[in-house]
Amino acid sequence: MNSSIVDHLGRAGRLDRMFVGGEWVLPETQTRASVVDPSTEEPVAEIALGSAGDAAAAVAAARRAFAAWSASPAQSRALLLDRIHALVLERAELFAQAISLEMGAAIDFARRTQVPSAAEHIRVARDNARGYAFVTHRGEMAIVREAIGVCGLITPWNWPLYQITAKVGAALAAGCTVVLKPSELSPLSALLFAEVMQDAGIPPGVFNLVNGSGPEVGAALAQHPEVDMISFTGSTRAGVLVAQAAAPTVKRVAQELGGKSPNLILPDADVARAVPGGVAAGFRNVGQSCSAPTRMIVPRARLHEVEQIAREAASAMVVGDPRSQQTTHGPVANRAQFHRVQEMIGIGIAEGAQLVCGGLGRPEGLSRGFYCRPTIFSAVHSRMQIAQEEIFGPVLALIPYDSVDEAVEIANDTVYGLGAHVQGKDLAAARAVAARIRSGQVHINYPAWNPHAPFGGYKRSGNGREYGIEGLEEYLETKAILGFQDAPAPAAE
Ligand code: NAD
Repeated sequence: MNSSIVDHLGRAGRLDRMFVGGEWVLPETQTRASVVDPSTEEPVAEIALGSAGDAAAAVAAARRAFAAWSASPAQSRALLLDRIHALVLERAELFAQAISLEMGAAIDFARRTQVPSAAEHIRVARDNARGYAFVTHRGEMAIVREAIGVCGLITPWNWPLYQITAKVGAALAAGCTVVLKPSELSPLSALLFAEVMQDAGIPPGVFNLVNGSGPEVGAALAQHPEVDMISFTGSTRAGVLVAQAAAPTVKRVAQELGGKSPNLILPDADVARAVPGGVAAGFRNVGQSCSAPTRMIVPRARLHEVEQIAREAASAMVVGDPRSQQTTHGPVANRAQFHRVQEMIGIGIAEGAQLVCGGLGRPEGLSRGFYCRPTIFSAVHSRMQIAQEEIFGPVLALIPYDSVDEAVEIANDTVYGLGAHVQGKDLAAARAVAARIRSGQVHINYPAWNPHAPFGGYKRSGNGREYGIEGLEEYLETKAILGFQDAPAPAAE
C-alpha cells in the first residue's frame, strides 16, 4: 500500500520537481534527500531539494501573481478554496498513506484525524473568504483589510498536511500569494497537496512549493526582500532564527512554536474521565503535537489513584506497525526524535521521577523502527527538566499539588504558553482557573476540536494566531482611508 503513494508521485515526476509559477519545474541543482519510513528506518523515496535560487524563483512567481490575485473578488477565492477542499477529501486516502509513510502516523489516525482536520482548515478559510467584511466604515473613514503580499510558509513534519492547510487556506482567502516550504522530512503530503492545487485550477504563481532544508530554502525565504510575511511553525530554536533573518526587511513574522501544556485536574474532577482523557490527549499523535498536554497537574491526595488510572489508559494503547488498522500509535517520526525521547526519559529517571509505566528502549517485540514506550512519570517536580522542556514524544509527567493556587502557579511555570486544559465538575471554578492560565487556548473538560478557535502562543510559544477569523486576519494589513465619505456637517452651536 505504502509504496503505491511513492509510485504515484514518482510516475508523475513529482519527486524530482518543485511547483513554481503553475508548473512542475526541476530545481537548479541536483541535491537530493531521502524520505525515511520511521517504522522500518529504511529510505522509501528520494526527493529533490531546492536551493536559495529556487526559493527566489518561486518568490518572483508569487510576486507576479499578487496584483491580480489580491484584487480578485473574495467570492472567487472562496470558489477556488471550495474546489481545493473537495479535492483534498476526494484524495483523502492518498494523503493518509503519505502521512503515515513519511512520519509514522497510525493509518487509522491519519484517516480519521490528520486528514479530515486538515481539510477543515480549507473549509473554514472558504467560509471566511465568503463572509468576512474586508471593508468597514467608521464615520467618514473606510477601514480596509487587504492582503499583506507574498507570504513564505514554513511548516513542520508532525501534522504535515494540517499545518500546510492552516496556512495556505487562510493566506489564499486573504488574497496573499504564497511560497510553501514544508519540512524536508515530510515532503510527500506536500507534493500531493501541490497536485491538488494544480488540479483545482490555482492561477500560476498564487501557490508555489519549494522543498528544501530549513537553513537553505527556509532561511532564503525569511531574508528575501520580496517576501512580505513569514508564517513559521516549528521549534523555538528555528523560529528565533527566522525572526532574526526577517528583521532587516521588517517582515511580518508569525511564529507557532513549542509548548509544554498543562492539564490541571481540579480537586472535584471526575478522575475516571479526566485522567484517561488526559493520557489520550497527551499521547495523541505519539505526543508529537505542540499543544499536547504533557504535564498533568494532580491533587496530591489523589496522586496514587491517578497513577493507576493513567497506567491502565496507557496500557490500552496499541503501539506498532502504522499500517495495521489496529495500531493506535506508530513510531515517533524520525531518528533525531527517537534519540531525544530516549534522552529525556533517561533524564527523568536520573532526576528521580517515578516511572509509572514505560521507560527506556523500544516496546517489547519491536526491534526496529523509531518506536518508544508510552511513558508516564509521577512525583515530578515542576523545576525538573522533564517538566520544563518540550519532549515531543509519548512522555507524560504527573505533577502533584497541594492547593489550587499552587496548581495554577505550576501550570504557568514554563517559558511556554500554547495550550492548556482544566478538568473539574464545578464549571465556575474551572472557568476561574482558566482565566488565570497564561496560554493561547484553554480547554475545559475536553471539548471537541473546534477549527474556528484561534490558536497560538503566549510567551515563547510564539506570536500571532492561526485558525478561524483570527487566522485569516494574520494575513491582512489594515488601511484607513480618511475622507472616504463626506465629512459629517459640524454640529449646530
Ligand atoms: P524545526 O524547527 O526543526 O522545523 C520546522 C520547519 O522549519 C521545517 O520546515 C524546517 O526545515 C524549517 N527550518 C529549520 N531551520 C530553519 C531556519 N534556520 N530557517 C528557516 N526555516 C528553518 O521543527 P520540527 O522538528 O519540524 O517540528 C517540531 C517542533 O515544531 C516542535 O518544537 C513543536 O513544538 C513545534 N510545533 C509547533 C506548532 C505550533 O503550532 N505552535 C505546531 C507543530 C509543531
